[in-house]
Amino acid sequence: MTLELRERISLRPYNTLGVEACARWFAEARDDRDVFAADQAASHLGLPVMALGGGSNLLLTRDVEALVLHVCSSGVRVLSDDGEQVLIEAEAGEVWHPFVMQTLQMGLAGLENLSLIPGTVGAAPVQNIGAYGVEFSNVCAGLTALDRNSGRLHDFTPGECEFAYRDSRFKHEPGRWLILRVRFSLQRTFHSRLEYGPLRQRLAMQGIERPTPLDVSQAICAIRSEKLPDPKVLGNAGSFFKNPVVSVAEAGRLSREHPGLMAYPQVDGRVKLAAGWLIERAGWKGFREGDAGVHQMQALVLVNHGQATGSQLLRLAKLIEADIVERFGIHLEMEPILV
Ligand SMILES: Cc1cc2nc3c(=O)[nH]c(=O)nc-3n(C[C@H](O)[C@H](O)[C@H](O)COP(=O)(O)OP(=O)(O)OC[C@H]3O[C@@H](n4cnc5c(N)ncnc54)[C@H](O)[C@@H]3O)c2cc1C
Repeated sequence: MTLELRERISLRPYNTLGVEACARWFAEARDDRDVFAADQAASHLGLPVMALGGGSNLLLTRDVEALVLHVCSSGVRVLSDDGEQVLIEAEAGEVWHPFVMQTLQMGLAGLENLSLIPGTVGAAPVQNIGAYGVEFSNVCAGLTALDRNSGRLHDFTPGECEFAYRDSRFKHEPGRWLILRVRFSLQRTFHSRLEYGPLRQRLAMQGIERPTPLDVSQAICAIRSEKLPDPKVLGNAGSFFKNPVVSVAEAGRLSREHPGLMAYPQVDGRVKLAAGWLIERAGWKGFREGDAGVHQMQALVLVNHGQATGSQLLRLAKLIEADIVERFGIHLEMEPILV
């Protein structure tokens, strides 16, 4: 089948914030051939390609003058299995949570803490998704991407991806790399990661002393469903700001000035602050201006109550950022990708 190019398509159904923006051109890629065809079509049109997965980490503030390529490829395969370590490859369009569940049902550990994160496998490396003490980079065994500069496929090692906290090289080279498939190194033996207090407490409440990966996944799904608004009900992109990482001296100054400051020492000797705590302390929780707002229960989550535009959400984000600088001297950084 040839690639179907559609002109001027509304992206509202394709982003979890539910904001309106129009794609100049739009196509769906089900396999590598579609991706190569889209790459060529975009070159003929003189436009960039913007890969789109589940649209759960995007803030669209205007129409997108690009060929928006909705990556819908599917397929999961075992590349090797030595009885303990299993190398799995998944196509970029696989939806993340069902893929996680598939690996757990195969008896493999490694992805349980990343349960219920929206989006696709292909987008996971872009911001090095993370939750409950685990990051994508902890299980990444490499990936294959099309380089739009050379028209060639490139196999990345994890090191070449330059992963950092909610960051990778793909975030800094927008439009260059189209990720086609991702490889994961998973284990049969389970080494639980239960540093996160509420997770330990929930398992303890259930009387589970030695949890299986599935127990951990279920506990995390339950906590996440209580804590985060469902984008199908209330438009949002999850955490809107990264947690700022500061020096020990700065964290010390802040906790003297602001008793109760939530701060977590990091392995590199610095300290991660809870951005949600700063925003809540500054009084933004539940704030609403028109349809752009801050969630009632979770200050880190900006929400679209209905008809908010991307620009209105961005304006609100900028007001919050400026206020946090003024009150705490801390610069917040947005987590979703600004288009
Ligand atoms: C309720 C909620 C909870 C969330 N919780 C978390 C969380 O706990 N941890 C976390 O890290 N994130 C979280 N997120 C953010 C989001 O789910 C992740 O960033 C996810 O990986 C985005 O996937 P996506 O397919 O929706 O990407 P999209 O939003 O479609 O795209 C994001 C970026 O990746 C690029 N991209 C997408 N696919 C490809 C591809 N195949 N090749 C190259 N580039 C590509 C896009 O161009 C864009 O720049 C949450 C979001 C929501 C709405």
